[in-house]
Order: sequence, then structure tokens, then C-alpha cells
Amino acid sequence: MAIAEPMTTYATRVERLRERLGTEHLDALLVTNPENRRYLSGFTGHDSGADSAGALLVTPDAVTLITDGRYIEQAEHECPGLRLVKREGEFAPLAAKTLAEAGVARVGFEATHVTVALRDDLEAALKELGEGAESIMLTPTRRLVEPMRAVKDAAELAAIEHAVEITDETFEHLCGYLQPGMTERQIAQEIERYMRERGAEGLAFDSIVASGPNGALPHARPTERPIQLGEPITIDMGARYNGYCADLTRTVCLGAPEAQAQAIYDAVLAAQEACERGLKPGLNGQQADALARDALAARGHGEQFLHSTGHGLGLEIHEHPRLSKFGADHMLEPGMAVTIEPGVYVAGWGGVRIEDTAVITTDGARVLSTSHKRFSLPR
Ligand code: ZN
Ligand code: ZN
Repeated sequence: MAIAEPMTTYATRVERLRERLGTEHLDALLVTNPENRRYLSGFTGHDSGADSAGALLVTPDAVTLITDGRYIEQAEHECPGLRLVKREGEFAPLAAKTLAEAGVARVGFEATHVTVALRDDLEAALKELGEGAESIMLTPTRRLVEPMRAVKDAAELAAIEHAVEITDETFEHLCGYLQPGMTERQIAQEIERYMRERGAEGLAFDSIVASGPNGALPHARPTERPIQLGEPITIDMGARYNGYCADLTRTVCLGAPEAQAQAIYDAVLAAQEACERGLKPGLNGQQADALARDALAARGHGEQFLHSTGHGLGLEIHEHPRLSKFGADHMLEPGMAVTIEPGVYVAGWGGVRIEDTAVITTDGARVLSTSHKRFSLPR
């Protein structure tokens, strides 16, 4: 069951967005990123098409959802007070008409979620409408809403914590379930089945189950390879609850690991824990990344750490901030939900990654994930 956000939450978010629009000299924003749309309105409609679930138009004195008939009832239920415009024909002429009626002059659109075709259609529709509509300026924008989403409120944190809890329960279940001979794909299917049974609305992302040499690829897809005793098996998974994601990675070994594998595991764990201890508000993404990266480099594994240390998560599995060598522009703030996930990858042998979900506090970080970090599972 969804934890409802009070309507004032959405009103506050919209007000903050309007302030941002003011500094960007925009009168309005056409929101087509589904997560941004949901964040600002509570409307959860989602469609693979670019515009059928709708676009949210934020103007100085109204918030309007343009959506098609299939979503009207859902929108009325989820977003009381939202102005709804029902789309019957093409999207662009209706959007143009709605913009003209709102009396706005400079309208931002989300450059990362509007196709070139849609922008052309909107411009053509404004021109066709005439009566002044042709002078409405469409301006591409980036990252207007996304940075607002980085700091979570109490209801968002509650949803993330619940998603993390389901994910931890799933790992606990796997620790008893895994047996030599099971295929990676079979395990991935069990992850999804179990998470849904525990109340997840779905997966936050496609699970990774990478055994033996497959673990050398940070983003390996599960294959028909049977897992074996004594090899590292990396499992990266997350439940989604009330729209919010969890993210957890554990590398385990059924039976006794080789000495080399244990040494690599210990290095990754030391780096992961060093980063969790050192995270605090005021660090930028690069400094946060260095907490894990320097610890791995000190143990001789710097070259084998192939990705960034972590990422923000929320309605999307990857969002602001980035804990990355290239993430210096985002400062950590209390209330940000992030992952900490250093790893070591050795071509032809495999890999080890350990990942928790955490939330930045006023003086450090609170790790939400409670799954154990023992490498060897007795078999
Ligand atoms: Zn992950
Ligand atoms: Zn992650």
C-alpha cells in the first residue's frame, strides 16, 4: 500500500520549482520526465510512449496535467486539485493551446525527455495557432527538478527504508537458497519472485547475478551458467516500493574461497567501510568517491576499480548526487540517499563488489542496509 504524501508536499515542491524558474527567467516548465512529473504532482501514470501518460505544465498560478482518457480517473484520484486537460487527438496542438491560454511567454522543456520531433511539433503547433502563440519561446532546460529530488523528505525516506528492508530480507533468503548447480538466471528469477512476495511493487532494476569469471564485468547480465563452489558470486539487486528504489550488492562464495579471493574481498570490504565511516555533509562527490578509491589504491587495487563509488537513488535508481571522480559539482547534504559500492574486477577471474544504501545525516551517514558482509557461506 502506498504511503500517501500530503498534498501540501506537492504544493511546496511546485513553489520551489517556480522560484527556480524565476531565476532562469522562465514563466513555465513543461515536465515530461515521468519521475519529475510524479515528484511534483503525485501522478504515478507511466507509459513507454513519450507523451501518452501526460505532460505536466507548471505555470505561475496553475499546475496542469495533459493526459489521455485512460489516465484521467487515476489522476483525479491521485492528484485532487490538479487541473486536468484530456487529450483526445495529437498532443502538440493541445499542449500549444494550453500554453497559449496560460498566457506565458518563455516556456522551458526538459531537454533530456523531449524528442527533436516533439519539439518541432510543438513549435509548428504554436505557429499554426497564431494570435500571439507563435511568439511563445520554447527553451531547453536541464536539471531543474532533478537536484530538488536529491534531498529526501520523511515519506520518501520511509519508502526507501522499506525497499531496503525487502531487499535485505531477499538477501537473507538467498543465503539459504543458493546451491551449486543453480543457474544465474534461475537465481535472478527467484530474487524477483521473493521481492514481490515480500511486498515489493517490482524491481528497482534488472538484477545482476554474476558468478566466477562473469563477475569481472560490473554490469553482467544473468546467464545459464551454473554457480559453483569456491568461486565469487556477485548479486546486485534492489526492490522498488511506493516508487522508491533500494540498491544492494553482496559477493558471496559457497564453501571456502581461495586465498586470493578472500584477500580481494577483504580489500573491497575495508574500502567500503572506510567510505561509510567517512561520508558526511559538505563533501563533494569527488571527495566522497576518494574515500573508497584511495582505500582500494592503498591496497594495490586502484586500477581494478572500474566505476564510481556510488550514486544517489530515489524514484530513479541513478539520480543526484554522484559519488564519482567527476562528481565535484554536487555537495553532500543531510537527507540525500546514496549508495556506497566499491568493487574490484579481474578479467578472466571474476570480481567482488559490496554495496549498501545509506542516507546522509547532519554529521555522517546512516547505513540503511543490514545484510551481513560475510564472504563465505558454508555448504
Ligand atoms: Zn547495485
Ligand atoms: Zn548502485
